[in-house]
Amino acid sequence: MKSFPNPELTEVLKHSFGFDDFKPNQQHIVESWLSGKDVFAALPTGGGKSLCYQLPALIRDGLTVVVSPLIALMKDQVDAARENGIAAAYLNSSQDAETARAVWRDLAAHRAKLLYVSPERLSSPEFRSAIADFGVSAFAVDEAHCVSEWGHEFRPDYRTLASLRQDFPEAPIAAFTATATRLVQDDIVAQLRLIDPVIVRAGFNRPEITYRVRRKSGVDAQILRFVTEHEAEPGIIYRSTRKATEQTAQVLQERGVSAKAYHAGLDDQVRSDVQEAFVRDDVQVVVATIAFGMGIDKSNVRWILHGDLPKSLEGYYQETGRAGRDGEPADALLLWGPQDIAIIRRHIGNMQVDEERDSAEERLREVLRYVEGRVCRRTALLAHFDEEFPGSCSACDVCLDELTFEDATVPAQKLLSAAVRTGEVFGTHHLVDIVTGTATDKVLERGHEQLPTFGVGEDRNRSYWIALARDLESAGFLTRRQTDSGVPGGLRLSTRGRLLLRGRETFASVQQDASNSATDTGGAASTRAGGRQGARNVPDTAPLRSDQKELLRCLKGLRKAIARQRGVPPYMVFSDKTLKVMVKNRPTDPQALLRCHGVGDRKLEAYGEAFLRTIRNYLATGECE
Ligand code: ADP
Ligand code: MG
Repeated sequence: MKSFPNPELTEVLKHSFGFDDFKPNQQHIVESWLSGKDVFAALPTGGGKSLCYQLPALIRDGLTVVVSPLIALMKDQVDAARENGIAAAYLNSSQDAETARAVWRDLAAHRAKLLYVSPERLSSPEFRSAIADFGVSAFAVDEAHCVSEWGHEFRPDYRTLASLRQDFPEAPIAAFTATATRLVQDDIVAQLRLIDPVIVRAGFNRPEITYRVRRKSGVDAQILRFVTEHEAEPGIIYRSTRKATEQTAQVLQERGVSAKAYHAGLDDQVRSDVQEAFVRDDVQVVVATIAFGMGIDKSNVRWILHGDLPKSLEGYYQETGRAGRDGEPADALLLWGPQDIAIIRRHIGNMQVDEERDSAEERLREVLRYVEGRVCRRTALLAHFDEEFPGSCSACDVCLDELTFEDATVPAQKLLSAAVRTGEVFGTHHLVDIVTGTATDKVLERGHEQLPTFGVGEDRNRSYWIALARDLESAGFLTRRQTDSGVPGGLRLSTRGRLLLRGRETFASVQQDASNSATDTGGAASTRAGGRQGARNVPDTAPLRSDQKELLRCLKGLRKAIARQRGVPPYMVFSDKTLKVMVKNRPTDPQALLRCHGVGDRKLEAYGEAFLRTIRNYLATGECE
């Protein structure tokens, strides 16, 4: 449906938020909800969901109540709204009584337009009748997938939202989520009792993110190299265990990188300090288990690195989605190795419920299809959300042609032959011992050093053969025997495997890094500008000249000083994108500054003079103040 510019909405958009245009779907959502209808909106992370409820709240009479699951982040959300001049407040259990009383006074005096509450607070009948007295005109449910058990972040508290419809029959409800699956969508609509809702589903493509996948080979060195390529850019590293997060953080710290570990085993205070420091650009890198990042609105996260194989593609998509919310280019790198699969399999083996085990197994297969696939990463990721992405994206390792394939038919035949000659009951390591000519006790006991295949693969190292075995398994040439104990059994040949062994099939594998040290991460930093030019809807990525970089550094310094003074995160003052536009336009008067993306009336008034002074000074002297 085509929306025509609505002068009133466009004006509020510019004056309060500083934006000239709506992002895709925003206007449709805003208009539908303002017309009194219920709305369900699935927009990717960074799609601009907050604006979809903040802008209508400014226009509507009465109070708009926003339900948000993360108490720790409510304050940030309210601060951000206030930075745009919106009368926003929040009520949750973390507040002291005095602050809460002040909020109630504002509500009674109709001084607040937007009230953030936690679901648990909203479940109280006294609370509901109190806000009803002040005239609630609409509800927005953020992170609405929390209402669904099918989602990946179910919150029992969200279930009590089902009775909102009954208690506030006049107030239209809008539900927002970044989760794209239909199952979750239907569940949200049903649980929240939405009536004939306007359903909006955005495309889930994130053109600003470049996706890469690499085999692990010395994971610490690979991580270090990637972080070095992204000097001074904020990013998140995900690791699968607490121990690994701490160890990686330490490796980075020893090299002078400002990094902190974050996981569920740390106490609350430490965790919130890390989060705060990251949001405020005081720490560059957080090394976390998956417990980190949901709902953090930090818009200038520039990269996400997965140091281990993720457990699901949905989770992977959501985690990488935390980069590049400001629409500026961002990098996602996934490192994985056969060891990761073994760990996840062991974990799956311990699951008690059959369905749970089956679905975890299916999720793992999906992830493996992704990392081992040779099709455009974007196409593969989006297919998971039933979205078709045609052709080449120019922003993933496959489309950028960073992967080289080599014919591996002959080495594959050597490995398959070793399997056949030993009765197809042994696992990877024993087969690799045979082809590499390693006389282990197990080899000698069974007389496998006598086989003609013993030592036929001495020309390549062990990790080559292990990876090859893995590739043959994932491509379906080798399959694993099932065992009762759940421990993975030996490898045997599939029908295709037999054809390959007889030379009636061929096999090509991704060329592994010969140096076997830090795998080339694709020169992520260097290919960035060139690689993206062909991608669709991608922001202007022409690299900055050195004088522009210097001005950007000055503006970032100013932003940080202002943020510190006001007690808000830097990205709330102005986004990275806004600073870059300033660098390119070099505004020297308020009108020109107001024309920059992200500068609205409120921010012009609050910070305009300081930024103009810095820019003028830089133009005159070539230096920061
Ligand atoms: P989501 O909650 O969907 O992940 P946010 O509401 O946090 O996304 O918005 C992501 C970023 O997009 C923020 O930096 C926000 O300021 C910016 N944004 C929102 N709407 C627009 C718009 N119409 N034009 C430009 N930037 C926008
Ligand atoms: Mg959001």
